Amino acid sequence: MAPEKRTVTILPGDGIGPEVVEAALAIIEATGAPVEFERHEAGAKAFKRGIETGIPNETIDSVERTQVVLKGPLETPIGYGNRSANVTLRTLFETFGNIRPVRELPGVQTAFTGRKLDIVIVRENIEDLYAGIEYMQTPGVAESLKLISRAGCEKIVKLAFAFAMAEGRKRVHCATKANIMKLSEGLLQHTFEEFAPQFPAIEAKHILIDNCAHQLVMRPEQFDVIVTTNMNGDILSDLTSGLTGGLGFAPSANIGNEVSIFEAVHGSAPDIAGKNKANPTALILSAVMMLRHIGEGKAANDVEQAVLVTLESGIRTGDMAGAAEPASTSAFRDAVISNLGRRSKLSAPREYRKVPLPASNPGVSVVTTGRRRVIGLDVYIESELEPKALARGLENLSGATNMRLQMITNRGAMVFPSSDRRVSLVDHFRCRFVLRESAGDLADSDILSLLQKIGNQYRWMHVEKLQEFDGNPAFSKSQL
Ligand code: NAP
Repeated sequence: MAPEKRTVTILPGDGIGPEVVEAALAIIEATGAPVEFERHEAGAKAFKRGIETGIPNETIDSVERTQVVLKGPLETPIGYGNRSANVTLRTLFETFGNIRPVRELPGVQTAFTGRKLDIVIVRENIEDLYAGIEYMQTPGVAESLKLISRAGCEKIVKLAFAFAMAEGRKRVHCATKANIMKLSEGLLQHTFEEFAPQFPAIEAKHILIDNCAHQLVMRPEQFDVIVTTNMNGDILSDLTSGLTGGLGFAPSANIGNEVSIFEAVHGSAPDIAGKNKANPTALILSAVMMLRHIGEGKAANDVEQAVLVTLESGIRTGDMAGAAEPASTSAFRDAVISNLGRRSKLSAPREYRKVPLPASNPGVSVVTTGRRRVIGLDVYIESELEPKALARGLENLSGATNMRLQMITNRGAMVFPSSDRRVSLVDHFRCRFVLRESAGDLADSDILSLLQKIGNQYRWMHVEKLQEFDGNPAFSKSQL
């Protein structure tokens, strides 16, 4: 009896998406793997049909049913939708981990050829600045919230170590900007350092993200797996794809506890769309990751080997052809199909084990703390006043309350009580009030009464409580 076929949702996407996706599907079909496809719409066409998210309900239903997606890049056309359809898909199905592997490929000449690069970025995929929580706080000052949770850090760190173990890798770097963003980026560093001892077979190292970018260009061989936050991972993974041949060769998997989405790192490359020029390798290698994910390891190895053989034979699309005659997308696809069953001379098939995913928590993730108290508040005020004049007004207002004005900052730089360097001011001030009595606990009624007073004279748009958890400040100090 023929094995039951596994259904995969296919989103051809926009720009070069349909060309590279169809190339990958033709190759999967040629392997004879028991997989069938359900094609659905998402991206530009859906937005233009008036679907706010760019993802029609039929598509969402299909993904819920199949739990596996192979997709092309999606565009969010200017003037449509509030959010990228990609971000919506990742968030909707909680694909918390984005795995982006790159390796030296035969015949793909780069500045690093011969150095046997083999690097995987494990990028947190849901949180951070990509949550897209933004405000214009004044007509001239924008705010973007960088939300990082302990639960999110724990999941991505565990995924990175599990992935490293499954692939027999030796080292995991955690790349953060924890020296500046001590609380948000620092949360990933601390979580990483807490869990690393559970994986004694893996060497664990923290590295600052800017140095990581530098080291990736200077001595990329030192890297094996790099785990990092969402935006850092987005940028670093484009960098690592550049080390090994460019976006045309970089696959990715968005891993969730239920749904996983496989796609190339590249976008819709509208400049070459519809010209049969695009390099389908990234999408084909994403399909290889998908085949492994659904347990079709043999078909995955066959396709991967056929891609390597094709590249070894000198067939390359325009992005990598150099002076040689470039192959079209369809010619590359046909060459891969004709090479199915052949083995690369340079790179044997690898053993892959299923990556055990960190358990998902169906409820609300909570981190408990002992004693907590509110010791003050930051009030964000829009004002054209000079800091000293603003401070005088605020000190008058708070004079009869249980709070005193401690400092004012302008874009993070102290402007009151001291201002020991020239700060070019904007009309957006963070005014910090703290309890006069150091052991107290600020009540909401005190806060509301102070805000009422401030609001009578100034335009405030945002307030943040200053909390202490177990005696530790839960807020950053001003950067001088
Ligand atoms: P891009 O589409 O990745 O293209 C950047 C450039 O890379 C292209 O102009 C092309 O360069 C080259 N390129 C990318 N993929 C290639 C391939 N398979 N074969 C050959 N060359 C390739 O980035 P973008 O221009 O920033 O983004 C375009 C659109 O895609 C945007 O709407 C963006 O939002 C969307 N996007 C979607 C995703 C996703 O769905 N996951 C990801 C990123 C971007 P040449 O100029 O050398 O031809």
